[in-house]
Amino acid sequence: MKERTAVIDHTRQDPWEVALAQFNIAADKLHLDPNMREILSTCQRELSVHFPVRMGNGVVKVFNGYRVQHNVTRGPAKGGIRYHPDVVLNEIKALAMWMTWKCAVVNIPYGGAKGGVACDPKQLTPQQLETLTRRYTSEISIVIGPDRDIPAPDVNTNAQVMAWMMDTYSMHRGYSVPAVVTGKPLAIGGSEGRNEATARGAVYTIIEAAKHLGMDIEGARVVVQGFGNAGMFSAKLLAELGAIVVGVSDTGGGIFSEKGIDPAKVDAYKRETGSVSGFPGTERVTNRELLELPCDILVPAAIENQIDRDNAPRIKAKIVAEAANGPTSPDADRILFERGIFLIPDILCNAGGVTVSYFEWVQDLQNLFWREATINARLKEVMVRSFSDVLNISEKHKVDMRTAAYMLAVQRVADATMIRGIYP
Ligand code: NAD
Repeated sequence: MKERTAVIDHTRQDPWEVALAQFNIAADKLHLDPNMREILSTCQRELSVHFPVRMGNGVVKVFNGYRVQHNVTRGPAKGGIRYHPDVVLNEIKALAMWMTWKCAVVNIPYGGAKGGVACDPKQLTPQQLETLTRRYTSEISIVIGPDRDIPAPDVNTNAQVMAWMMDTYSMHRGYSVPAVVTGKPLAIGGSEGRNEATARGAVYTIIEAAKHLGMDIEGARVVVQGFGNAGMFSAKLLAELGAIVVGVSDTGGGIFSEKGIDPAKVDAYKRETGSVSGFPGTERVTNRELLELPCDILVPAAIENQIDRDNAPRIKAKIVAEAANGPTSPDADRILFERGIFLIPDILCNAGGVTVSYFEWVQDLQNLFWREATINARLKEVMVRSFSDVLNISEKHKVDMRTAAYMLAVQRVADATMIRGIYP
């Protein structure tokens, strides 16, 4: 059994504390210089905005939003925008730091950022959502831009939200600036393949992990938590490869069928009813129960802190593929590792999204668009190479895949910082 060294405080669940704990494990392994440790464990810019939105009927509501840039040493900041009632600064800081490492693991020339607004988009009308998006974009326009910081979709934001952001920023400038956001609709400079990119990238890493473990994808039993962009496409793509999807879930609850579930039919059902829950021919399970279902591949594709020290001892999957950001607590990491469960860490597993976002940005800047086959081939090359880089470090240093991915990423950012030097 490989070893895992650093001691972790078991009371930590705050995402920023989790992000720091993960960083410190890698920093210890790398014997990182204390000055460098201090620089990299700090977010460079944290913008908090509080802005009013006309809700109709004369009512005005003030919303809280954030845009955090963790590090921009290797290039412009990059990271998604999240709309969720639980959004707080520490969550956005953690997500921004994870973006720095993610871009470094797959070696694309970006730093890390994240943004979000504390709101429940399900309670907003389309008009309120558009007004909120435009005002939030206006508020953060002092730090974003195609050369500085490029947002993208995340939980509860999509191509339409990106279109409103791009339009608002462009209206401020007086000309169209497609490269200010990625994950846009194709009609305004989006990229082929961006919608499925996070899931496609995750599936490339799952294929590599299965090869490494001598496991067949065909016939493998799959459970996916979260049936949105990352989860739904992961389920569909794995089913296309012959895997049997036995369980999926969303905020409305989970469904399970021993015989297997057709993700395309569940997608159609969810579009009609608003949830996967109640899909005919399936048993209802809670989100906690779903994670513990017997399966070969578990894909957490919802939110943070889903696999913790309570349920980690009961996870039955052979592979845990983190399509979501931060779904596993450091305690759970240790337990899964000791139990021999192969975990593909978020900063590697879901890096397909930012990789195709990078392709989209490059296409926008060049006004030259690529075919979907080219996008997918380049994505595959990046994901397979990065998986192999991380696996090699994991084997060489006898550490788990997360620590290995962090070691690769932190070293790359530290090297770039050293070469640039400390200003002034
Ligand atoms: P999404 O809004 O499209 O989908 C999220 C899904 O998770 C929905 O089905 C929602 O019902 C479900 N969900 C939310 N809270 C849940 C809970 N407590 N239990 C069970 N299900 C829950 O969002 P997405 O873009 O698919 O993002 C999902 C995860 O993937 C996030 O962690 C995000 O940061 C990560 N991610 C997304 C991208 C991307 O390109 N979209 C890229 C990298 C990482």
